[in-house]
Amino acid sequence: MTPAAPASPLDLLRRVFGYPDFRGAQERIIDRVIAGGDALVLMPTGGGKSLCFQIPALVRPGTGIVVSPLIALMQDQVDALHQLGLRAAFLNSSLKAGEARAVEQGLVAGQFDLLYVAPERLLSERFLALLDQSRVALFAIDEAHCVSQWGHDFRPDYIQLNLLHERWPQIPRIALTATADGLTRQEIVERLGLAEAEQFVSSFNRPNIRYRVVQKDQPRRQLLHFLRQEHVGDSGIVYCLSRRGVEETTDFLRAEGLRALPYHAGLPAETRRQNQAAFLRDDQVIMVATIAFGMGIDKPDVRFVAHLDLPKSVEGYYQETGRAGRDGLPANAWLAYGLSDMVTLRHFIDSSEAEERFKRVEHHRLNAMLGFCETIACRRQVLLNYFGEEQARPCGNCDTCLEPVQTWDGTQAARKALSCIFRTGMRFGANYLIEVLLGKDNPRIKSFGHDRVSTFGIGQELSADEWKSVYRQLVAAGLVTVDLAGHGGLQLTEQSRPVLRGEREVRLRRDPSSRGRGAGGRAAEGRSTGGRQERERRKSGFEGDLEATSLWERLRALRLALAQEQNLPPYVIFGDITLRELVQYRPRNLEEMSCISGIGAVKRERYGEAFLAALAAHAAEHGYPANWRPA
Ligand code: ADP
Ligand code: ZN
Repeated sequence: MTPAAPASPLDLLRRVFGYPDFRGAQERIIDRVIAGGDALVLMPTGGGKSLCFQIPALVRPGTGIVVSPLIALMQDQVDALHQLGLRAAFLNSSLKAGEARAVEQGLVAGQFDLLYVAPERLLSERFLALLDQSRVALFAIDEAHCVSQWGHDFRPDYIQLNLLHERWPQIPRIALTATADGLTRQEIVERLGLAEAEQFVSSFNRPNIRYRVVQKDQPRRQLLHFLRQEHVGDSGIVYCLSRRGVEETTDFLRAEGLRALPYHAGLPAETRRQNQAAFLRDDQVIMVATIAFGMGIDKPDVRFVAHLDLPKSVEGYYQETGRAGRDGLPANAWLAYGLSDMVTLRHFIDSSEAEERFKRVEHHRLNAMLGFCETIACRRQVLLNYFGEEQARPCGNCDTCLEPVQTWDGTQAARKALSCIFRTGMRFGANYLIEVLLGKDNPRIKSFGHDRVSTFGIGQELSADEWKSVYRQLVAAGLVTVDLAGHGGLQLTEQSRPVLRGEREVRLRRDPSSRGRGAGGRAAEGRSTGGRQERERRKSGFEGDLEATSLWERLRALRLALAQEQNLPPYVIFGDITLRELVQYRPRNLEEMSCISGIGAVKRERYGEAFLAALAAHAAEHGYPANWRPA
């Protein structure tokens, strides 16, 4: 659909997308690009970045060229645009030669509002020559952090994208990313030649996501407990560090009767494609994955993101957890971590081939992540602070806010723990050291003569778990390091001295017991989650209202049927927010329906009658007139 008269951005927002108002900086960004200026947009996942280039592409003459590394998602993105009645296509290696040629001809003939292109395709001489013959409205560089060599999403092709500017200086460029840190932003500006671009930095707060960190004990059991308590029938992502971790966790969850699918770079491309499609099209799949999975996944109803291993950086953690709750409805970010994670990751970094300079940055990033895990302050404040944002008050929606952490004077314990490292020659890991502190009768200890050191048996006031917590916190605080050249033994640092000499106090957090209360935090709420209906009510937000819940279920079933007919993900038809508003406001005709968020002109025409019929059928079943509305 090409707008007949030059439509204003707000008209388009309402008519095409069905949303009443712009959010945050959207309007300013759109105005800037329409006027021909460059823009760099930093907005969290779910913030609404797509509209920032889609609307200017509709307003400006010509086709909006969208560069994206996400080949596997282009089909869905284009399908979603077709649902809105827009003219869109994509070009990547998945197309057959004939199909690609047809798209190329369409581009030159001006048949598209938007064209999604993989970077390597865009940079080919052939395509650049085509662009010369076409009218281009703008270049949108999505996932712009892929230009950063520091991040794990680095794509060498992205570096060459600055040639767009050199070749077509008059065409506006808009670079977008959900990666928030300053280093990455700087790299984007430098490498893409965006010094003149106006920067739009949104708040990265995701208020609907609840952050929680638990001490790793039996991670898979803990995960299962969390899923059973809070996420029966929900779809979500479980991140593991290794491929093996992914495989084993998938098997474990399946054996427990959950619908889990694996995803990692070692699987055949076809398996990955199928599993990703199942995750997008079904609303109950748990994706167990390495970080190879997730970039650009715009499934809005991911209800949880769980980490079974510690992420390498706060950036990574924030990006991964950001995939939860794009639709703005409540979602959980759950992380299990322990001492062994730190050892593994430190080892990873030190044994890599990278330059020293690079390793230093990596260690620095890992330390920030540890700081987040060990904090006794509001987790959201720590996260936002890391990205340079102030949040005045604790959020009330993270574990440390909901269950304030107790601290204790760990000075004595720390001295014993450090001293034990020293007495045994700085060669042993935490488990061994703890056995010495507890005075365990252990042949290995005897063989080293460590049953005769002064720290043997001096730590009986704490349990093995508590000692583990002490060592973990000492490592996290930099009072102990891990010897990576050797076998991962714990060693003292410069900073341990003042503690050993009794000149420095150490306050430690008291870890909530990982047993019993399990994943913790919402035990009371968890108990009340009985059957399916109860869950549906929670999800739909119509708590305790059976009538509304039954309508909600009816509309969901209709959405699923419509989606399956066309082999589309359900959310491409309508998002949960739209369904919720339909239940709340019960439009009686197409005209009233246009006030519902997410129902633009084309969707109203396509699906309006079907949903009105469902509303009427529901009214008839409940014995009230079709034009009845809840008070
Ligand atoms: P991002 O790419 O930043 O992660 P999206 O562009 O996918 O975010 O938008 C996230 C969700 O918010 C989508 O469902 C989108 O349709 C919706 N959305 C975007 N802008 C608005 C708006 N102004 N009003 C209502 N919903 C919006
Ligand atoms: Zn908080």
